[in-house]
Amino acid sequence: MTAGADIPFACRCGTVTGILHDVRPKEGTHVVCHCNSCARAMQLSGLGDTAAGGVDLWQTTPDRIEIATGADRLVPVQLSPKGLFRWTAQCCDTPMINTFGSPALPFAGILTGNLSDPAPLGPVIAHGFVTGPNGKQRHQNGGRVIWRFVKRTVAAKLGRAGKQTPFFNADGSPINAPVLAPRAD
Ligand SMILES: [Zn+2]
Ligand SMILES: [Zn+2]
Repeated sequence: MTAGADIPFACRCGTVTGILHDVRPKEGTHVVCHCNSCARAMQLSGLGDTAAGGVDLWQTTPDRIEIATGADRLVPVQLSPKGLFRWTAQCCDTPMINTFGSPALPFAGILTGNLSDPAPLGPVIAHGFVTGPNGKQRHQNGGRVIWRFVKRTVAAKLGRAGKQTPFFNADGSPINAPVLAPRAD
């Protein structure tokens, strides 16, 4: 088994840094999410214009993400009380990584805009929540994405990867207290 690329990432001001480990195009999923929640999260951070074409994400498992510096500034922001944890660097308000609100489901979507070099990810293979002419949101190539996600999550749960996460403590609590974003008008 050959090792994949290790890609450094950083928030806009450079306080929160880390490494996305062992990147191989077949071991993760490169997607662009067009959902309203992702768009709103970017708008809240003043990045609505750069994310106008959707939010570019690499879906992987949390064990492949290492936080090197600034972990105390990386805070899970929720758009609703049961929403995803949108881990945001509070030093400079940079959205960085999405996870579920519990380590039980080992999933992480890292925003590729913060990576030093997205080339090892390979091309985008799916678009999520594309708004169609009727105003409804649907997935393009969604089945493939979901299959890959399930396969990876099950594998991670069976292996030690399922227990390794930089986002949660051993008791399952997040490393920093969640923050609920202000409601949309
Ligand atoms: Zn920062
Ligand atoms: Zn989304």
